[in-house]
Amino acid sequence: MMKRRLIIKLNAICNNKCKFCIYSFKAWRNFAQRDTSCIKEIMKSNLRYGIRQVIFTGGEPTLRPDLIELISYGHHELGLETHLQTNGRLLAYKSFCQDLVVAGLDYFGVAVHGHNPSLHDYLSNCTGSFQQAVSAMQNLARLRQKFITNTVITKQNYRHLSDIAKMVLCLGAQKYQFIFPHVSGEAYINRKIVLVKMKQVVPFARDALQLGIKFKRSSTIKAIPFCLLKDCDSHIRRSIYPDEKYVFFKDEADCSLWKGERCKRCSYNEKCEGVWQVYPRLFGTEEFVPVT
Ligand code: SF4
Repeated sequence: MMKRRLIIKLNAICNNKCKFCIYSFKAWRNFAQRDTSCIKEIMKSNLRYGIRQVIFTGGEPTLRPDLIELISYGHHELGLETHLQTNGRLLAYKSFCQDLVVAGLDYFGVAVHGHNPSLHDYLSNCTGSFQQAVSAMQNLARLRQKFITNTVITKQNYRHLSDIAKMVLCLGAQKYQFIFPHVSGEAYINRKIVLVKMKQVVPFARDALQLGIKFKRSSTIKAIPFCLLKDCDSHIRRSIYPDEKYVFFKDEADCSLWKGERCKRCSYNEKCEGVWQVYPRLFGTEEFVPVT
């Protein structure tokens, strides 16, 4: 049975400035960060709902000084499986990776948006961030830690999804995931620069997802609906985590989803969560044809 998971946003600061970030950097200034005891209480109080995994995310959670304490509390005192979603830059320091392992971190998720420095650093808006993410993965492999990677799909990288998959598999990733961007915050501000139609992405995504089968590793894709990827629907995250819900703090991001009237006729309707509301406003709805 799927373990119930709790996703906690630890902060809203970051040492990257990704062009597709779902938060607007201006709005981030108003984010009220919860203190250490409050985060511990959130973890503890959710045990009664059967939570078995906690995922720390941000912003950039490694910038939080109490991260080690929070992981240790979740893992050692509450018995939770602990996950971290990071841009990987601070994990370029092996001693920090070791501290996280000792604290009880079970899974690392590293963001990788390109297969070379120019692509990744362009999207992260930070020179050197690619090399640090690669060093992070090398450190984790040397420490025999399990890590997965997350790649946000953009106009600049969608043709290179297979190159990215090959690179992270060679570096030892257990799993890789592609994410169609949530059109909010910086992604909305930069929509003309970074956004691409889902239909254009699909052939490249399909090839890249299937590479995982060859390498005997799993691969998933998030936020592209079933009607566009029906021939590899088992890779769609919604198939794997049907109950997953996105919880955003007030005013952070527009998290509403769109489905059309004709979706009612689709055989995937019950499973499908639809697409981010803003997407049909920008690109129309003709891509989403019910599967019957
Ligand atoms: S329900 Fe709508 S958006 Fe979802 S797979 Fe079917 S047609 Fe596509």
